[in-house]
Amino acid sequence: EMFGQLTSGLESAWNKLKGEEVLTKENIAEPMRDIRRALLEADVSLPVVRRFVQTVSDQAVGTGLIRGVRPDQQLVKIVNDELVKLMGGEVSELVFAKSGPTVILLAGLQGVGKTTVGAKLALYLKKQGKNCMLIAGDVYRPAAIDQLVILGEQVGVPVYAAGTEIKPADIARQGLEEAKKKNVDVVIMDTAGRLQIDKGMMDELKEVKRVLNPTEVLLVVDAMTGQEAAALVTTFNVEIGITGAILTKLDGDSRGGAALSVKEVSGKPIKLVGRGERMEDLEPFYPDRMAGRVLGMGDVLSFVEKAQEVMRQEDAEELQKKIMSAKFDFNDFLKQTRAVARMGSMSRVIGMIPGMGKVTPAQIREAEKSLKVMESMIEAMAPEEREKPELLAESATRRKRIAQESGKTEQQVSQLVAQLFQMRVRMKNLMGVMEGGSLPALNN
Ligand code: GDP
Repeated sequence: EMFGQLTSGLESAWNKLKGEEVLTKENIAEPMRDIRRALLEADVSLPVVRRFVQTVSDQAVGTGLIRGVRPDQQLVKIVNDELVKLMGGEVSELVFAKSGPTVILLAGLQGVGKTTVGAKLALYLKKQGKNCMLIAGDVYRPAAIDQLVILGEQVGVPVYAAGTEIKPADIARQGLEEAKKKNVDVVIMDTAGRLQIDKGMMDELKEVKRVLNPTEVLLVVDAMTGQEAAALVTTFNVEIGITGAILTKLDGDSRGGAALSVKEVSGKPIKLVGRGERMEDLEPFYPDRMAGRVLGMGDVLSFVEKAQEVMRQEDAEELQKKIMSAKFDFNDFLKQTRAVARMGSMSRVIGMIPGMGKVTPAQIREAEKSLKVMESMIEAMAPEEREKPELLAESATRRKRIAQESGKTEQQVSQLVAQLFQMRVRMKNLMGVMEGGSLPALNN
């Protein structure tokens, strides 16, 4: 399985934090060593690993805990966010020319999957409605030209080929002319790869690049080569200037080092990834999804994210003030119920909250339904009624109006009002517990 080893290496890090209450410099030392080891084994380069571990450690001890989130879950989240950043953060889109054809020049060593990528990319762009053309520029391997012609037919994209008795730069010139005549949107040129970097290859690429003036120069690299791939991207960028990389064979037994190192080492983003031998197996490189795959903990991540969103420290403090001064009103009530709703299906997250595992699905459904009922009644209240629940406690006329407007019974409205006052009392009691320090959520 892809990144399997890396994933299980990281797992041992989280496991060492189980049962801890907070993240400290001391208790993360051992897990951080696991993370470091896992990344090195995945063939991420040492300087990258060092920086990564340092950043994660700094953040881990500097972050306050979020209520309901265990320290190990929180570390997963920090590692995830740093992995995403490491890989460039956002997805790096292909750039298209503003006028005239967009020209994409493909470079790479032999056997990395360059010719295949050419055809895959043509299909990928064709599906986006682009009119594409391929140029066969690997003049040293007649088989490569034949291969591209066959793949072109397969994906239904024309291939410009001019044999092997011609300089790549001349093919480039002729092919581009042909493309302009035919009003092609995107021209993709395949070039010769060698087994190793040599001056001949670089000079030839420079010449082709000069002729084509390409919009994108993409280096195709093989994910199996790990940090070597990142070094290649750097070299090609320094030598000929590239705009990004395409990482192939990510479906194979890749350890992850290439995906994690390319951006950080070379400064150039991975734009696309190949994930199989079929023509359809090419897709954009999404740093966040890749990090998710590395960690294999999508559920924990979305839980922590939602909890963070719902229980921001400021909100908690504001709420605390309100409760202490007995000012918790229907606006707060609504904010709270909506925050819970934002967490998505309660049933999905509730099981992860410590001490709440015993709630049955039926109970959760019931709770979700009653939240909706409450919301509709609060929405029918006037602003001053939301701010001063006393008004509703005192006036049956007001309660009756709300019942009519929300389509609920007067009894339901009375219940809701009573519930708010009960909540004030309960929360006040709860605050007593928090002040005693037994809930870590508000500590830093
Ligand atoms: P080139 O020498 O760089 O042009 O490489 P080719 O395009 O001829 O590809 C070399 C081999 O790698 C072929 O057998 C391809 O089918 C295979 N290949 C290319 N991309 C991928 C990929 O993403 N996944 C897998 N599993 N195989 C790939």
